[in-house]
Amino acid sequence: MSSTILEAVKSAGVVGAGGAGFPTWMKLKSSPEIIIVNGAECEPLLRVDQMLMARYAKEITYALAKIVEATGAKTGVFGLKKKYGQAIAQLDFFINEYQNLRICTLDDIYPAGDEQVLVYTVTGKHIQPGQIPLSVGAVVINVETLLNVYMALQNKPVTHKYVTVAGAVKKPYTLKVPLGMAISELLKVAGGTTIDKFVLINGGPCMGKQTQINEVVTKTTKGILVLPEDHPVIIGQQRSFSINLKRALSVCSQCQRCSELCPRHLLGHPIRPHMAMRMVAYNKPDVEAVKEAMLCCECGACDLYACPFDLSPRQVNRMLKQEIRKVGLKISWENQNCQPHPERSYRLIPIKRLINRLGLHDYDVPAPWYDEMLNISEVRLPLLQHIGTPAKPIVKVGDMVKIGQVIAEVPADALGVNIHSSIDGVIRDVDREITIGKTGGM
Ligand code: SF4
Ligand code: SF4
Repeated sequence: MSSTILEAVKSAGVVGAGGAGFPTWMKLKSSPEIIIVNGAECEPLLRVDQMLMARYAKEITYALAKIVEATGAKTGVFGLKKKYGQAIAQLDFFINEYQNLRICTLDDIYPAGDEQVLVYTVTGKHIQPGQIPLSVGAVVINVETLLNVYMALQNKPVTHKYVTVAGAVKKPYTLKVPLGMAISELLKVAGGTTIDKFVLINGGPCMGKQTQINEVVTKTTKGILVLPEDHPVIIGQQRSFSINLKRALSVCSQCQRCSELCPRHLLGHPIRPHMAMRMVAYNKPDVEAVKEAMLCCECGACDLYACPFDLSPRQVNRMLKQEIRKVGLKISWENQNCQPHPERSYRLIPIKRLINRLGLHDYDVPAPWYDEMLNISEVRLPLLQHIGTPAKPIVKVGDMVKIGQVIAEVPADALGVNIHSSIDGVIRDVDREITIGKTGGM
């Protein structure tokens, strides 16, 4: 990778905008054969990536071409769903300028955007258990991350985030907001909630995590969903592990449906969530089931869709993974030659059915682009918005800062990125987050 692009991306603070916040410069240090843009956006109700591809097709196509050129990859591919007609039309138009870029359209299934599923769909190559996309020559990058790479190439750091606000709000929308904006402010822009008793989810209904109204938008916030506190998705998320165990013991019929529909099992990986359930429900140690838990991507296809009794193999696998990490056990998956399940194509989960199963039908409405300028008086920027080392503040209370100014840094050799101010203002507090208040006249 050209050091110019790498440095630009690093100093602009670009991290994976659609996942855990892995610093993008690290990803771009590799020498892949193919760069895949993950435009699947398979979580129900989220709309950010599909809109960005339609609105900024020229910019992200340019950024992809630059990354392909700089990494020496042979090709760059946009992987997006067939139903994103406007985005496909726009990308199609701009992609013609580049010989080594193409579009791969995806079915409307869950989880089409799982990295391993996406790489298999786009390349036909099969990532073996425990391996990453690079093992088959692929690097996967999120749409918004790519737009941030484009901005970095124009010397513009990451100061804003695109989010969808949906669910039980008066006016669902998608818009660009400054990093550090409070979720309470996002809800005001949506005209408020339509219910009094609600729970907030940061992300989609399948893999998102519950959050609080006083939390803020970070570099990885993709959407905020408002759901009634007695909604099945919320009840499932809030069920304790011990209750889940008791339920598993009394009702798990070992029907194996969770394994049959598990996307990683369908790729041929040796993961069988029903065996994890058998182990915990009957308290019978099973080394293989414990090992297999490490292959779980926690997509929730098993508990949200497959299980007829609303049991959660995902929660069991999550617990097993935590235990494995706690004791420092290294799991090896060498000498595997897994092949996708012969019935895989018949077992994929259509999004529409998933939405109905989750009781989200009423919320599956457009969340149109909202263009108005927001007047945000304060932002709070956490020092850790990415995987790796937290950034260290280089400002103090009372300092005046400008939008785009570096306010916290990570050491040059550490995994991490700098944090930039997202508004013009004055530093009000420096702790685990930096609070900036807007000064007058802005
Ligand atoms: S689908 Fe549910 S009932 Fe069937 S084996 Fe899996 S956890 Fe048990
Ligand atoms: S959450 Fe369930 S369906 Fe998804 S990978 Fe894990 S076991 Fe499989």
